[in-house]
Amino acid sequence: MVGRELTRAGHRVTILEARDRLGGRIWELPADQFGYRAEGGAEFIHGEAPITKALVAEAGLTLVRARRDGQRWDKRSGKLSNRDDDVPGFDLVPAKLAALKRDLPIAEFLDRNFAADKFAAMRRSIIRMTEGYDAADPLRASTFALRDEWLGGGMRQSHRLEEGYGALMDFLAAEIRKGGGTIHLRAEVTVVEDTKVRCANGARFNGDRIVVTVPLPVLHDIQFDPATTAQWQAADAIGYGDVIKLVFRFKHAWWSQALGHDLSHLSFMMSDEFVPTWWTQYPRPYPVLTGWFAGPRAAQSRLSEAMLIERGLESLAHIFEQEVGTLRALLIAARALHWGQDKFARGAYSYATPESYAAQDELSKPVRGILYYAGEALYRGRDMGTVEAALANGKDVAATIARG
Ligand SMILES: Cc1cc2nc3c(=O)[nH]c(=O)nc-3n(C[C@H](O)[C@H](O)[C@H](O)COP(=O)(O)OP(=O)(O)OC[C@H]3O[C@@H](n4cnc5c(N)ncnc54)[C@H](O)[C@@H]3O)c2cc1C
Repeated sequence: MVGRELTRAGHRVTILEARDRLGGRIWELPADQFGYRAEGGAEFIHGEAPITKALVAEAGLTLVRARRDGQRWDKRSGKLSNRDDDVPGFDLVPAKLAALKRDLPIAEFLDRNFAADKFAAMRRSIIRMTEGYDAADPLRASTFALRDEWLGGGMRQSHRLEEGYGALMDFLAAEIRKGGGTIHLRAEVTVVEDTKVRCANGARFNGDRIVVTVPLPVLHDIQFDPATTAQWQAADAIGYGDVIKLVFRFKHAWWSQALGHDLSHLSFMMSDEFVPTWWTQYPRPYPVLTGWFAGPRAAQSRLSEAMLIERGLESLAHIFEQEVGTLRALLIAARALHWGQDKFARGAYSYATPESYAAQDELSKPVRGILYYAGEALYRGRDMGTVEAALANGKDVAATIARG
C-alpha cells in the first residue's frame, strides 16, 4: 500500500521482499490443491474496514458476506450446544470495564475484580477469547483494548474475498509496476545504513527514503545504526501473538450430518481439543475445515507440520465422534502453518498492551527524516493486527512522505 500510494504520487518505488512471493501474512494456498483460493494467513475482513473495502471496489473484486444464518456450535466440556450459555458474572464485566481509570493486563484485571470461585467459568472464557481471537498473552494484553472491543458497540459483519486476499495483493503489485515501480523478490534485507540497504544475496540499493514494513519481531533481524535500534526497541512493548492455522480439504462435507444434528449451516465449532476452534467456508460450498489455535500455547508448540496435521485430525475426530482413520481417508489436501516458525513473520499479528500507545508513538517518528516504519502494528483503531490496519497505516505513512 505504501508502494502503490507513493508511485501514484510520482515517486520512484523499489520494493524489496524477502520471500519468493508478495503478500507476507496474506498467503494464498494453491487452488488446484484446495479447490479455491484458500487462505493460509489472513482470511476475513472484519467490521467496517473502509480502506480495504475501497481497495476491493477499485480492484473490481467480490466481497462475500459471512451470513448471519451460519451456526456456531460449541462442544466444550463434551456437551454439544448451539446456544450461548449464560456464564455467571459476565453481566458484571461491562460496568467494571467502564469504571477502569488506568490500563492494566487482562489477567490482572480479572484477578482484581473477579477472583472468587463463582467467576471461574467467566475468567476462563475471557482468557480463552484473549488467547484465541487476539492471539494474545493475557499477562500482557491491554484491558482498555478489550473494553474498546466489547463496548465499542454494534454487531460486526465479517466478509471474505471471493477471489482471495491474494488477488488484492496482485492488484497492488500491478499498480506499482504500472506506475514505474520495481519489485524484487528473494531480496532479504539484512542491513539498513543511512540511505543504503544491503540484502542477504549481496544486492545493494540506495534511496531518498526507506520504509521498513517487516513484522515487529523481524526488526531484530536487521542491522540498523545504533540510534535507530535504540528508538525502535520500543517495538518490544507492543504485543505480538502466534497462530497455528490448519486448512483441511475433504472429499465432501462429512460434518454436515454429524452428532445427530443437521450441521449443514455450521460456521464455527468451538471445543476444548488440542486444536480447539474450527470453521467452515459457509455459505460457500467448499468442503474445507479450517482449524485455529493461537496465543502462548501455540507459541510453545514445536510440532512439525505433519504432527500438527495429525493432531488436527485427532481433534476433529474427538469433536465429531468419528474415527481418525475415516477422516484421514477423506482428506484430499492439508496444510498446518505455524506462523511463529516462519522466519519472515515470527508470529501472526500484534496486540495492544498497556504500553503499546507510547511504543507506537516512538515507532511512528521518522528517523532523521529518512527512515520510516509502517505496518499493522502501528494502527491506532479498534482493529490492530488486521489487513485493514496494515493498509491504513501504509496509506498514512505514504501520505506523510508525499507531503515532504
Ligand atoms: C494465520 C493468520 C490469520 C490472520 N487472519 C486475519 C484475518 O482474518 N483478517 C485480517 O484482517 N487479518 C488477519 N491476519 C493479520 C494480517 O494478515 C496482518 O495483520 C497483515 O497482513 C500484516 O500486513 P503487514 O504489511 O503489516 O505485514 P506482512 O504482511 O507481514 O508484510 C511484511 C513483509 O515483509 C517481508 N519481510 C520480512 N523480513 C524481511 C526482510 N528482512 N527483508 C525483506 N522483506 C522482509 C515479509 O516477507 C512480508 O512480505 C492474520 C494473520 C495470520 C498470520
